[in-house]
Amino acid sequence: MTSAFDPASLSLASGHFIAGRLVEDRGEIAVDAPSDGRRLTLVPRGGEGVVANAVEAARRALARSGWGECRPRDRVKALHAWADLIANDSETLACLEAVSSTRPHAHVPGHDIAATTEQIRFFAEFADKEGGLLAPTAAGQAGFVMDQPYGVVGAIAPWNFPINMAGWKVAPALAAGNAVVLKPSEMTPFSSLRLAELAVAAGIPAGLFNVVVGDGAVTGAALCAHPGVDKISFTGSTRAGGQIMENVARSGMKPMTLELGGKSPMVVFADADIDLAVACLEKGIIPNAGQFCVAGSRMVVAREIAAEVMERLIARFGVHVPTPTWAKDAGLSPIISERQLGRLDSIVAAAVASGATTACGGQRFDCAGSYYRPTLLTDVRPDNPAVVEEIFGPVATFQVFDSEDEAEQLARHPTYGLCAGLFTRDLSRALRFARRLETGTVWINRYNRSGDHILPTGGWKQSGMGKDLGREAYQSNRRTKAVLIDL
Ligand code: NAD
Repeated sequence: MTSAFDPASLSLASGHFIAGRLVEDRGEIAVDAPSDGRRLTLVPRGGEGVVANAVEAARRALARSGWGECRPRDRVKALHAWADLIANDSETLACLEAVSSTRPHAHVPGHDIAATTEQIRFFAEFADKEGGLLAPTAAGQAGFVMDQPYGVVGAIAPWNFPINMAGWKVAPALAAGNAVVLKPSEMTPFSSLRLAELAVAAGIPAGLFNVVVGDGAVTGAALCAHPGVDKISFTGSTRAGGQIMENVARSGMKPMTLELGGKSPMVVFADADIDLAVACLEKGIIPNAGQFCVAGSRMVVAREIAAEVMERLIARFGVHVPTPTWAKDAGLSPIISERQLGRLDSIVAAAVASGATTACGGQRFDCAGSYYRPTLLTDVRPDNPAVVEEIFGPVATFQVFDSEDEAEQLARHPTYGLCAGLFTRDLSRALRFARRLETGTVWINRYNRSGDHILPTGGWKQSGMGKDLGREAYQSNRRTKAVLIDL
């Protein structure tokens, strides 16, 4: 297998990015490469002092630069310049991303970086087009709704798509006139540090985009509790989202956007285009080894076509081979860590102990690195652990239905409501069913986001509150003020 780069040759920063420069800090948290288990480096665990420095830098930068009150077109220009520099830096960013995360180097420029630069441009363009509104009032009065930035946004991101997730949080916050302190995952901080450096090079005033590195319990908790942070924007697990709500409530109150976990169903009716449905079922669980929030991890298939769909999926699942993230050509990604692989394996074992049958996979690959075989589990009841728990790996359950009502019951999840896929040629049924699903997104006869970024993404139920992407993400980084004048 040819390598696109040598992981040992990269120099990886150990520090935070505060007030426009790298602030070196002692490495405490081990970062291992999921592709071969090799220890890469140690990264810091930023404490309250580090977080306070970053928040102060953000407040100073806002006051000094006037970013929130400047001509909005100046923000647009600076953000476009940042997107240009990120695009030009694709190769460096792709190496930094691939070395410690599960993202294949071959996919980062065309997928992750292309989407992020587009999203930065998308959010930038709101800055001089969205505004407040003039309220209808009696002739003797004038009423306005002013909208203004919050100030400092504390952003916390997961490891599964580090560049994309940083972009989802940072781009709308900056476009809307805020400063940001970002805490990336302690397992994948390197690309975020580079994004912050590029922001300064693009002319975004130093201190508007800071990065603090560390784990959730110390660095994340300090960021959420800091009184100088005006809003929290979080993407990660439902468990951590709950801890953040608790922590924030104990230290005061802050508005929050929470993008959390999912357990999304993909429902295939008997009249579906089977080629399309099978390709989407595979695409819904194999990329990034199933480590994405909207993974279609629960397949719900009409009895008439279930055997054929299953047979074709088993054949397709069998062809994926473990591939280091630094290989020239992308293949099956590793699981982010041995700890996460162990968790995944124990849920599969519990599923089998509760009556599930392993149609394929069901164990790790016998090779270096943390790779798990694409796995299909059948004979699962609704209370089976593999149906209930977000597994975050290439593992899907396969359930069969005989009626639309049964399909709806199976599609419904007690906890999560992030996304659902529907496959049918019957438009009335598709729309009827989409209306009945308790999820924040429904994809019909496809299973991926559009390249347009205008559709908001976010969960119902315990999959979260608030939205990323779309106009909503821009607006959620501004707050309104009612102004009434007697003329
Ligand atoms: P995680 O919740 O363990 O960690 C996410 C981030 O939160 C990390 O930076 C972590 O250090 C930090 N963190 C953890 N506990 C914290 C706390 N108590 N206070 C403050 N910060 C804390 O999640 P993960 O394993 O990095 O990512 C996988 C999860 O993210 C999955 O559940 C997945 O569904 C979810 N996710 C959701 C979306 C979405 O848009 N809904 C997108 C991507 C990932």
